[in-house]
Amino acid sequence: MSGDMLKTQDLRQEMSSWRRDFHRHPELGFEEHRTSARVAELLEGFGLEVHRGVGGTGVVGVLQRGNGPASIGLRADMDALPIVEQNQFGHRSRHDGVMHACGHDGHTTMLLGAAKHLAENGEFSGRAVFIFQPAEEHGKGGPAMIADGLFEQFPVDAVYGMHNMPGMAVGTFATRAGAMMASEALFEIEIAGRGGHAAMPHHGVDAIVVGAQIVNALQTIVSRKLDPGNNGVVSVTEFITDGQRNVLPGRATLKGDARALNRQVNGEIERKMRQIVAGICAAHDVTATVSYETVFEVTMNAAGPTDRAANNARVLVGQGNVDADCAPVLGSEDFAHMALARPGCFIFAGNGTEGAHARPLHSANYDFNDALLTLGSSYWVRLVEQELPAESL
Ligand SMILES: [Zn+2]
Ligand SMILES: [Zn+2]
Repeated sequence: MSGDMLKTQDLRQEMSSWRRDFHRHPELGFEEHRTSARVAELLEGFGLEVHRGVGGTGVVGVLQRGNGPASIGLRADMDALPIVEQNQFGHRSRHDGVMHACGHDGHTTMLLGAAKHLAENGEFSGRAVFIFQPAEEHGKGGPAMIADGLFEQFPVDAVYGMHNMPGMAVGTFATRAGAMMASEALFEIEIAGRGGHAAMPHHGVDAIVVGAQIVNALQTIVSRKLDPGNNGVVSVTEFITDGQRNVLPGRATLKGDARALNRQVNGEIERKMRQIVAGICAAHDVTATVSYETVFEVTMNAAGPTDRAANNARVLVGQGNVDADCAPVLGSEDFAHMALARPGCFIFAGNGTEGAHARPLHSANYDFNDALLTLGSSYWVRLVEQELPAESL
């Protein structure tokens, strides 16, 4: 990567101090009061039109230049995680039990840097919409902003997101058209058996035995019922009963998590799960309820925006440093909901290969890499200038 490619080089120090300030003061989803106030204040200082309280603590900044008809949405996330930070550096979290362990402090900063540069020196014509969303980790902030009229009030032709990726070198990007990240559904199965004496099982219906058969049968959804070419995961993570040492349980609750890389597979997992539970319960003459809540949709990158995002990254870091057909990741991302509402592209930016920058997201000793700030913000600046071309004189 050559230095003159970086549009926001001069903001390096400033961005680093914003980022470290956010890192010191992390806030959980929908509680990003300090963070969003700071974001709004900075955007106003740069001269953007600022809208607070979009979908709770969300902030939108609008930068209009010239008469170009095109518009673009750029999205960052602001929330932190309920994790006790183990790092000991000067900018470690001041709020015990809350930590920026996913790098949203960096995402917010990179978008702020881009907004500042574009407000001062941007060469584009059209409308750039800067979206700072709350509560990404819940998967609820994006839907809250959309339900609050985000894309009606601030229409965009396409929407773009970026996430840092530990273990990938700074100066590399990865994306793909189609499914980029998985859907996540949380399920809960409540079995109503009939409890009784452990020595007289024939008087009741042991909810553990019914639950155990359901746990086993659920394994066949992925192994026997889905098309082997389609990825899915079904994990039972909790098995709770009201049994005691000598008391057979009358109730059992199974909880778990299901992932899929397309909506049909997610729907199929739910249907098969309901079928299995109903069948096994019928065999034992008990009832059960199944709740299946899809918290995150699949993150689907649209072909056009993905091509353009990859091209933009290639200009920045060179052909060999952009993987435009990376493997999908089975984690989930709230950007999915924005990419359902508008054509979109989500891209990974390398966070580094050593130390805290290489540790997995959501680790207590992870840190966003400040070396990515100028690169990530330059990616945004160039994307705006590419997608909203200035009128030729
Ligand atoms: Zn996260
Ligand atoms: Zn994240």
